[in-house]
Amino acid sequence: MSQLETQNGQLEPNLPYKLVRRRPDSGRSPVRVGGAAIGPGQVVVIAGPCAVESKAQTLKCALAARRAGATALRGGAFKPRTSPYSFQGLGREGLQILAEARDLTGLPVVTEVIDPGTVSLVAEYADMLQIGARNMQNFSLLRAVGSAQRPVLLKRGMSATIEEWILAAEYIAEAGNSDIVLCERGIRTFEPFTRSTLDLSSIPLVQNLTHLPVIVDPSHAVGRRDLVLPLSMAAVAVGADGLLVDIHPEPGLALCDGEQALSEQVLRELIIRVMIQARNVNRTLDVLPLDTLWSGNQLSPTEELEDQRGLLDALDQSLWSLVAERTRVVERIASVKRRFGLAIRDQQREKQVHDNAAAAITRYGLNPATAYRMAKLLIADAVRMQTQASAQRNPSRAPKLPSEVSRDDCQF
Ligand code: PEP
Ligand code: MN
Repeated sequence: MSQLETQNGQLEPNLPYKLVRRRPDSGRSPVRVGGAAIGPGQVVVIAGPCAVESKAQTLKCALAARRAGATALRGGAFKPRTSPYSFQGLGREGLQILAEARDLTGLPVVTEVIDPGTVSLVAEYADMLQIGARNMQNFSLLRAVGSAQRPVLLKRGMSATIEEWILAAEYIAEAGNSDIVLCERGIRTFEPFTRSTLDLSSIPLVQNLTHLPVIVDPSHAVGRRDLVLPLSMAAVAVGADGLLVDIHPEPGLALCDGEQALSEQVLRELIIRVMIQARNVNRTLDVLPLDTLWSGNQLSPTEELEDQRGLLDALDQSLWSLVAERTRVVERIASVKRRFGLAIRDQQREKQVHDNAAAAITRYGLNPATAYRMAKLLIADAVRMQTQASAQRNPSRAPKLPSEVSRDDCQF
């Protein structure tokens, strides 16, 4: 078999990246960071400050991220700033603060490394090493993280083509480390309203070309907080494996990128919306259970209950809107049946709805009794609606409401 031939005899293109490319018919690999996994079945949110500024600021961010349901904490201790006069980060002290934030919340820490000489220092504290956009083609740095025992988050350079970005990942893999997550963070265009332009097309593209997870940093892409939520929704809709978002307890006082930092409240909203959005693309966003790895709860029981009920309310709202949508489709089915004189009840069809529930029970680990009961209610309600519609149009020929669905099934 020639090198370009796959097992099923198809020819593969002779791609310049050998280790990170996605082989035909094979899936994408998840990358483990601390206790979490990034890609491909779930969506993760990594949140935190752009820069570690102080212990108080970082711990506040870490607690906010944990309460909101984030999977990991971000925060730069070594900052690659465009101007040498800007805040350069707290260095080792910043790493120690991040480690303390991890101890407090259980969240794994993602932090940037900016030169080969500090890779081992940063790896001592971090769970994941971030290579920033400005360093995407710093080849000695890529090789250095390639021999570190930590997963790597590789941002796309602001002027890098997709191929250059993938080849940068290939450097890391070639040096021995295949635990790489790519991060689209926008590219420089002629548009001045946003800091960069978020290239959404790169996400599905790179997921097809490589087996690596791809996450999106909407905060650095646009540099303004008003666009972070809509772009997060868009990123998840096109299949991103996660998001990297900036938060700050007092964005107006941030030493770095305050204009793009979200408040805790907005982060909570973002995570709830993303959780619902993820379902649309057959993914899950698993918020961490509050009682595992969690020693930093500073909320009162009432506040905590409020938090969780807020989440439930948002999910219920989404559930009701789906029920309403379903009702409209049932009405259309009723009109088709009327037009063609078809019977309202169809046993085979009802069995199919039941089977769909069975599949959902397996897929989502639902309680069977609850799920079957809900399916029964949906069927009963559809029959009731169609029966009523038919009775209104033609009272004499209206079929009787089936007794088995008229009473008990409609009571909670
Ligand atoms: C960052 O994430 O803190 C950062 C500096 O981003 P980028 O490298 O994408 O500019
Ligand atoms: Mn920043």
